Amino acid sequence: MTKPPQFSNIKAVVFDYGNTLIPFGRAQVDEFDRRLGEAIEARYGTLDRDGYNAHRDADRMRPYEGDPPAFRESDPVEMTAALIRALYGVEPDPRDLETLLEVRREAFVGVVEAESSVAPLLTALRAQFAIGLLSNYPDGVAIRRSMDKVRLAPHFNSVVVSGDLGLVKPHPNTFATSLRELGVGPEETLFVGDNWLADVQGAKRAGMRVVHFTRWIPPEHFERHPGDAQPDATISRLEDLLPLLGLEKAGDA
Ligand SMILES: [Mg+2]
Repeated sequence: MTKPPQFSNIKAVVFDYGNTLIPFGRAQVDEFDRRLGEAIEARYGTLDRDGYNAHRDADRMRPYEGDPPAFRESDPVEMTAALIRALYGVEPDPRDLETLLEVRREAFVGVVEAESSVAPLLTALRAQFAIGLLSNYPDGVAIRRSMDKVRLAPHFNSVVVSGDLGLVKPHPNTFATSLRELGVGPEETLFVGDNWLADVQGAKRAGMRVVHFTRWIPPEHFERHPGDAQPDATISRLEDLLPLLGLEKAGDA
């Protein structure tokens, strides 16, 4: 017996990427930093690791700062230029910045892995729903290359990355872009993500229904505030989406 779906009238499912479809925690961040740090050291000399980490953490939170926050995405080349200026006190050569952008991309692609259960889940969903990806990351090229690497790209009807828009979730334009590309309204869309502010608050404010995914601890911590919107469901395994949408889990009879 399949339980009646909690979410009826849903036509599209939009996923966050990092810590939703792929793990992107301390291990991935450390390996990314190691690769980028090596490339910087090769050009500029010994890297001040504490300075690097402080700069990186400030970069990560910058889009969410301000009152009210502008939710502006950073430019990856400008981020690298600011890092070199801060750590070495020199103006980086534009050709070095191009090289380091490519190092960033390959380091990101190198650490992205998807569990083997993700593709079959997307295949099952794709039979009934339009599937979107809406990711906060400064570099859309890196996201798309990584999706090709882990063979998830063909499952998506729409891929929207904050770096392409210049705005991050929870800015309403990010959700509106995804809905426009999928050709659906917010009331017929389910959003799945891990980040309390960007995903849960953002998608609820956009009028979507929301599943909060709590399997992995995100590197950014966002406080919950009184009056925050609550997710419509919380799951810690992606397969638990299927019964919520009226589909049977593999192995269920
Ligand atoms: Mg995430």
